[in-house]
Amino acid sequence: ALSSAACGSEREGENPSGGASGGTGGFAADSLIGVALPAKTSENWVLAVDLFTNGLKEAGFQADVQSAGASTTVADQQNQISSMITKGAKVIIIGATDAAQLSAQVDQAHDAGIKVIAYDRLIKGTANVDYYVAFDNFKVGQLQGQALLDGMKAKKPNGPYTIELFSGSSDDNNSGVFFDGAMSVLQPEIDKGNVVVGSGQTQVTQTATDGWKAENAQRRMDALLTSTYNGNKTLDGVLSPNDTLARAIITSVKGAGKPLPVVTGQDSEVESVKSIVAGEQYMTINKDTRNLVKASIDMVKALQSGGAPQVNDTTSYNNGVKVVPAYLLPPVVVTKANAAEAYANDPTLSALTK
Ligand code: BGC
Repeated sequence: ALSSAACGSEREGENPSGGASGGTGGFAADSLIGVALPAKTSENWVLAVDLFTNGLKEAGFQADVQSAGASTTVADQQNQISSMITKGAKVIIIGATDAAQLSAQVDQAHDAGIKVIAYDRLIKGTANVDYYVAFDNFKVGQLQGQALLDGMKAKKPNGPYTIELFSGSSDDNNSGVFFDGAMSVLQPEIDKGNVVVGSGQTQVTQTATDGWKAENAQRRMDALLTSTYNGNKTLDGVLSPNDTLARAIITSVKGAGKPLPVVTGQDSEVESVKSIVAGEQYMTINKDTRNLVKASIDMVKALQSGGAPQVNDTTSYNNGVKVVPAYLLPPVVVTKANAAEAYANDPTLSALTK
């Protein structure tokens, strides 16, 4: 898989091969592009591997696409990025395992003249992240919060509603953004007394799911059911930040023999789309990985020709050192009601809605 390493910076001088480096800062059209993805904690990260490998090749680049392993993910990813730098990559696209643990590698890349694009997850604490490409994460949270309210209202027209809150892994910058987006919708209802968090656990330290791991969400849900819902108290809804965790929460509730609450999700994973169609999980978000990968490769093409990649947000993503210019794509809310329409152009998912 690493045979592409032979084509690094040396080759550029030898034959720009249509590299047409145009303006300043361009590079050869067949340059090596590195892609460092996190551990495969959800389906989108699995899909991204082939989409990047094939998409970069089709665009004429050499591709070195790596995923961090399931354990020692941070060290894995740091080593993978260092190796991409050594091999002479011109751009490195990074889906960070831990937002705060990559500044040394990103700074090294910058010193070697390599552009760094944060993919899906922001990288914090360095001025050398050049661009960010992601779905609008705050919007994802807002859609989840609103769908949770809508779903509960559809089952029971009048509140108050009792809910529980789950958030993602605290080393992922997205987790807080999803949560804040959801709470921007839920907090006003909590303040009015229309929504009550049954356990009282609302702090991110209480709601976080370490490593985005299903077993951690399931364990916490088991504990909540025992501590808070062992009597007659009804659980109306659960804010889950993604599909993997949503299914773990549903498994826990079923195991306890309780009626299913309205449970949110994200990612449009196959098993969750099935669950939505079957009327169990209430909603998910469609963040079509094909579009996110394409947007990233478009950025690489712009950089290759010496141009400036397109961005549409220059205010939202402060990484602690600078606001990273971002290109944000729109997430789409999916429930049983619009699943067929939402997945119409995705052969795998649309087959599940038939
Ligand atoms: C991604 C989500 C995903 C989660 C766990 C987040 O950073 O944006 O789509 O569910 O990571 O893999």
